[in-house]
Amino acid sequence: MKKVFLPKVKISYRVWTVITNEVAKWAKIGKESYQSPLECVFYPLTAISLNKKRALTPFDTVNLKDIRQFTLGDVFIPPEQYTNYSSYAASFSAPMGQEQEMQQVFAQGIETKLKKNPQFYFLGPGHSHPFSVGTTSPSSTDINHHMLPYRNKNEELLGFGFSLAIIVTQHPKPIAFDERYKWQACVFALDEYNQVQDLGVAETEGFNDLLQPFYYSHDGNTWETLQKAFLGEKLIEHQRWPGGWTSFLIRENEEKATLIMLPPRFPTQMPVKQTISLITKQAGESEFWDCGRGYKNYCLGDINSVHYLKQA
Ligand SMILES: [Zn+2]
Repeated sequence: MKKVFLPKVKISYRVWTVITNEVAKWAKIGKESYQSPLECVFYPLTAISLNKKRALTPFDTVNLKDIRQFTLGDVFIPPEQYTNYSSYAASFSAPMGQEQEMQQVFAQGIETKLKKNPQFYFLGPGHSHPFSVGTTSPSSTDINHHMLPYRNKNEELLGFGFSLAIIVTQHPKPIAFDERYKWQACVFALDEYNQVQDLGVAETEGFNDLLQPFYYSHDGNTWETLQKAFLGEKLIEHQRWPGGWTSFLIRENEEKATLIMLPPRFPTQMPVKQTISLITKQAGESEFWDCGRGYKNYCLGDINSVHYLKQA
């Protein structure tokens, strides 16, 4: 088999603390009541860093090989009242007639977190294999009932040809006094060919990838407001996209427009430009738009923006 490039996975220290506390809690409950640790489920929210080889936009299909790094920056822990955890499986249940309410609690819990940090994606749930020491692998249930449905969902909703599954196991060399070092996160992905890929054990860190998008900052907000004012009627559309992307569709003339897409970590990450035909709605090749790392170098309107640069 051809060796493929696989993305790295990192987990922020704070998120790892939350996950390991939850895993440890259910392992302890199980050991005390049933002589064996219980599995549990959590919903990680993940930032994505793309490889720089191709200028990808939120409208392109993104596969595993296009990704340089996944960084887990937040996590939703399911409310205890809905948990149905055992030592060999973890699922959820609601009292009769309250299933819809449960679904809503889960969807809202994730949505609220994504609203605060739009640079994150929900790419599939994680769970624990508290009986495993060191490495593990997804069971056929994990693959068929979790990884596969989420892979299909991610493709349909986000244009991603993969899903992610974190499985927490016991650390092979634990440090007894700290839960964070008693466990490790084994990461698996289901790729565009429905093959399970082992992404290895996640490292804890990765702060830079977790920053909120530029438009959430004061500078970003001011810059966007100015750009919109300069563009005036030339601005056909200004939109937010999953993952913290922003797009500006700018009219060049009667037939042609330029689509500028700002990635979640603009201006550190380069924007992507694309020509759009206003007649056929066809998009041209995507290319990086490199004006350096200062946001003031990027001017979406032409004549006025030169004026803005001189003043700045
Ligand atoms: Zn499992």
